[in-house]
Amino acid sequence: MATSNNMKLPVIAEQAYKKGIQLVGSGDCLHPKWRGELRQLEKVDDAFRYDRTYFVPTVEVEDASRVHHLLLVPSLSKAEELYEAFKKHSLNIDTDGRPTVKLTGEEIASAAKESESLIGPAHAFTPWTAVYAYYDSLSECYGSLVTYISFVELGLSADTSYADRIPDLRGLTFLTSSDAHSPWPNKFAREFTRIEVENIGFDELKKAILQTEGRRPVLNVGLFPGEGKYNESACIRCAKHYTLKEAIAVSWRCDCGGRIKKGVKDRAEELADVETQPSHRPPYLHTIPLSEIIALSLGYSSSKNKTVQGAWEKLITRFGSEVNVLVDVDLDQIDFVDARITGAIKAFRDGRVILHPGGGGKYGRIELPPAAHQTKSGGQASLGDF
Ligand SMILES: [Zn+2]
Ligand SMILES: [Zn+2]
Repeated sequence: MATSNNMKLPVIAEQAYKKGIQLVGSGDCLHPKWRGELRQLEKVDDAFRYDRTYFVPTVEVEDASRVHHLLLVPSLSKAEELYEAFKKHSLNIDTDGRPTVKLTGEEIASAAKESESLIGPAHAFTPWTAVYAYYDSLSECYGSLVTYISFVELGLSADTSYADRIPDLRGLTFLTSSDAHSPWPNKFAREFTRIEVENIGFDELKKAILQTEGRRPVLNVGLFPGEGKYNESACIRCAKHYTLKEAIAVSWRCDCGGRIKKGVKDRAEELADVETQPSHRPPYLHTIPLSEIIALSLGYSSSKNKTVQGAWEKLITRFGSEVNVLVDVDLDQIDFVDARITGAIKAFRDGRVILHPGGGGKYGRIELPPAAHQTKSGGQASLGDF
């Protein structure tokens, strides 16, 4: 449901390689047919492999209160056990990849523990179907099992700066990931987490999430939360933005008479205490898919534009993957694409992009800083400017 017909393991594997992603969460691992597909892959220790891409079983589950949980499952036989445990509480487990299971968060966490799976809240700050949409703390949701929660999946609507202000979350690993409804590089792995491990598989992933034996997350990469359409509190009729204080003062009613919808940022603000980043927290890089950066830098409205696609191909052919280009390669050595493109990638890396936050149902907007092709230290403008 709700995914492209191209979401087949061989296609995902190939596109993941191009994107620069080595380990992919399968999604939907309770679904009997999808589990059957996963079983066809080559089993390598505690992961599955297709060509150069590894998979581990994962699933998102909706509980009786409509909160979504993400489970990382050690094996397909454990996925089978979970399926059996949930089946009697679910009407759609055989049809929907993200089943609704009529159990509490605590009961779902208990089943996760029983099957030695890792569990955490999925897209924790989304205004619907997420833990902070219904609860003020993780223990209200998970009860006595709260100590078993090992990560928070931040989702597209929040980043480290939001989540670290909440005392509940500081000790946990933050996962940045995006559900993929289509395998193409502008949709797939818009968010990802870089971890330091010895080899690729479930056990090492688990160690990295639990931050034991030196394994750990080293970089979170994701979209700007401000791009979301409910980032700041704003009127759903006229889109006027309000601070939390202002919205409370007018009882969430806009001058125009419309309702002010509380933004994700203000929801995090309500739950926050002082801002202190724990020392284990890796940096967070805000970025967007490479083709979108190219389109933005060249002034095209669509990332499907031929010139944009041409530049994208050139970069990927030369550097192997999108992640390499976005995060790792020395941009000064690139002289075979328009300098505005490398300037824009640098602007994202340096956090110099200007964001106009969304709110009230309107998406946020990204703007490149003036002369984005100049380096932070003030490099030369290119001919493309004049
Ligand atoms: Zn969800
Ligand atoms: Zn209004």
